[in-house]
Amino acid sequence: MPNASGDAPGPNTFSRVGARRDDFDGNMDQRRNDIWPSGNNLLSRVPPEERRILDAHLEPVTLERGQVLYEPGAPLTHVYLPVSGMISLVAVMGDGRTAEVATIGREGAAAMSASGYTDAAFTRYAVHIPGQAFRLPAQAFEDLIDASVMFCSAVTRWREVLVRATLQVVACNLLHHLRQRCARWILTTHDRTESELLPLTQEFLAEMLGVKRNAVNIVARELQAGGLIEYKRGRITVLDREGLKGAACECYGIIHAEVGKMFTDAPSPECWD
Ligand SMILES: [Zn+2]
Repeated sequence: MPNASGDAPGPNTFSRVGARRDDFDGNMDQRRNDIWPSGNNLLSRVPPEERRILDAHLEPVTLERGQVLYEPGAPLTHVYLPVSGMISLVAVMGDGRTAEVATIGREGAAAMSASGYTDAAFTRYAVHIPGQAFRLPAQAFEDLIDASVMFCSAVTRWREVLVRATLQVVACNLLHHLRQRCARWILTTHDRTESELLPLTQEFLAEMLGVKRNAVNIVARELQAGGLIEYKRGRITVLDREGLKGAACECYGIIHAEVGKMFTDAPSPECWD
């Protein structure tokens, strides 16, 4: 657990996320090397003098692949702040069909109450890329927002970014071809991993994209035929990232830029009121 000096949890608790490629136009790489203490962008905004709430409540957890943190309707008891990996927000329909509507990594937090009080989950929160995270009780998260202008500012910005990214995905699901959406999803997942090899089965991709498995199979084979990915035994290897960007719709770049702002934007003034 973290102590008053902010020394822990640190590298001995979780391996730090290393720099890689062109994440968020290089800004993410820079941030990864000098943030406190966990690699989570929001936690890095809490000044040392305001870490007493973290000292009392912050809990390191492992995010297991396939783990469901909350089903729709479940009380949001804890907020999850990833250090690595990816948590997906998945809309679940009455007939069991699903579609992913947002992804969350170390730039933000998952399972925040929209109202500021303990609330129920509206979507499923599921771990799709394993990793590490910290979690805070929902009330402690709200207390920290009240106590820290910097944290409040970062969370406010994150709420806005998450809404924007979700709106873009909604339009994408309506307007863009499955091949474009599939390329976008592979790129987004690639951004959250340290490997070129992505553990994505056809069934999983179909669930995330809200389509049937055979449709995903056709699209994956097209991307493979174009030399952009290798797809076999339920695993995708990214062969040509730039080519995938060309195959994806504009939504990848728009969402990528929005998330990247989390690492560069100045604090919002509204939390000083
Ligand atoms: Zn799109």
